[in-house]
Amino acid sequence: MKLHLSEHWRHNLECPTCKAPLDQVRDQTLVCLCCQGRYPISKGIVKFRAPDEDGSQPAFTTVGQDFHENLVGRFGLYMARRHYLYRISNHVKPGGRLIEIGSGGGSRYLGRRYDTLGVDLSLSAAQVCSSSCKSAIQSGASPLPLASNSADGIVSSCLLEHLDDTTVRPVLSEMCRVLASGAVMVHFFDLDTDHGFFSWAKRQDWYGRIFVKSRGHFGLRPWNEWENLFAECGFRIQAAQFFCKWWIQDASTWAALRDDEVPPLAKSVARVVGSARSSRMLSLGVDCITTFTDDTIGRLMPDRWSSKAIVILQKSTR
Ligand SMILES: [Zn+2]
Repeated sequence: MKLHLSEHWRHNLECPTCKAPLDQVRDQTLVCLCCQGRYPISKGIVKFRAPDEDGSQPAFTTVGQDFHENLVGRFGLYMARRHYLYRISNHVKPGGRLIEIGSGGGSRYLGRRYDTLGVDLSLSAAQVCSSSCKSAIQSGASPLPLASNSADGIVSSCLLEHLDDTTVRPVLSEMCRVLASGAVMVHFFDLDTDHGFFSWAKRQDWYGRIFVKSRGHFGLRPWNEWENLFAECGFRIQAAQFFCKWWIQDASTWAALRDDEVPPLAKSVARVVGSARSSRMLSLGVDCITTFTDDTIGRLMPDRWSSKAIVILQKSTR
């Protein structure tokens, strides 16, 4: 049976229960010869989570685009997702064994440039991801069913803010185990802040419902808490960049205010931003403007005002 896995990831699958290598396929199921654990295969995707464990998760099945090696492509790559893909391209060598956790439908760019394994809780997301990346599995982030030291890079976008206090340390420790010594992680995620837009939003009755509960953001933390968590779980911060300070917020943040409880003026702004986001060109324009503003005047404002960050972490050699 054909699995959606490259040679490297096929040989680095490991039983999440007993850590034995997984290489026996029987009756559309990957079987652990050590503990008899059974992991069903659906359309080439190995399922490491039972269906009842992922039923509540929304599936993000959008596929990120590729960028050509010309001037327009390089500009697009630089601007995409606040330089997230560009930072990855700077820190992980082409052809590297890369894991994207919470991959959704995956990224065509990462799929082409790297030996990318997409990991997602949602089976439908993992299935879409197998069209953009050579490898995809359905799994949570802890435990990762992968061998220790098997990855040259681990990346995520909009994942860390979902990790509540009981899951954040196990997930970061699993990433540390799977990452090769000296290899890097790049994460793009939301931060907790009490400044600008959020000092206003947090005083409103709807804040918790719109910005925490409905988005599953139970892991919003200020930057200094993240610094401690990264160090505790075996990482050294190589670089960090901060975005969305003061009132310069991401289009998705403004668009979230399309809600009946939000005051009329803010709701009108949300409607305009929301309709701009429905057009690909306008949405790109809005993203370019906010990214440019962040890269210029945003840099003059204190980092603790940020509601988003990109961090580059290196596994400490202890
Ligand atoms: Zn086992």
